[in-house]
Amino acid sequence: ESFASMTDFHPVIGNAVKLIGYQKPTPVQKWAIPTTLAKRDLMACAQTGSGKTAAFLVPILNLMYTEGPGHSQAAVRANRRKQFPVALVLAPTRELASQIYDEARKFSYRSQVRCCVVYGGADIGSQVRELDRGCHLLVATPGRRLVDVMERGRIGLDHCRFLVLDEADRMLDMGFEPQIRRIVEQDTMPQKGQRQTLMFSATFPKEIQHLARDFLQDYIFLAV
Ligand code: AMP
Repeated sequence: ESFASMTDFHPVIGNAVKLIGYQKPTPVQKWAIPTTLAKRDLMACAQTGSGKTAAFLVPILNLMYTEGPGHSQAAVRANRRKQFPVALVLAPTRELASQIYDEARKFSYRSQVRCCVVYGGADIGSQVRELDRGCHLLVATPGRRLVDVMERGRIGLDHCRFLVLDEADRMLDMGFEPQIRRIVEQDTMPQKGQRQTLMFSATFPKEIQHLARDFLQDYIFLAV
């Protein structure tokens, strides 16, 4: 089965898939894309290189194109803009976050959807300026920088309809669990069931099972 014939993709996705040249879905894509389009929560055990990035970006962006990104307008407050991303993707490292961001840009090329990335160790001014231009999908590492941007009132998660934890096991290995919980469990973030949550992890130890229990609702378990 070809990638394009999996489902009736929105033209933005259809064109991007053609441009990038994906012929067939990888196994994780084959299962994760329909599951996510059906609005189910997902726990997927998948390795780096399995095509997991497109497995979550393609259906999330497709849902955003077909249903409208929703609450995306910037709230202008005292001359400062606050963005309410519709999707938040958390990843363990700058390198992975910027790879996800690059792929998100390809799948949102010439669309209304704006993607941004936030991580430490790079100029905060330019990241905030990019946010100011609009942010529907935010890719970030769960570090100090994201908290900083939220505390400055530049990002609100009140309208976050999609949450992705990529390489969740690596994030926990790096000690990010408290930060992840602080971000996901803050009062303004939609509760599980009110949002759609996807977790990707190479392994499925106890700690990841607990996170899945706490963050996911009626989830599909996928191991490829
Ligand atoms: P990932 O596991 O998301 O880091 O993807 C690993 C590599 O596989 C990336 O270079 C992708 O561009 C590529 N890739 C993802 N999906 C496909 C596909 N369906 N066909 C061919 N290459 C793909």
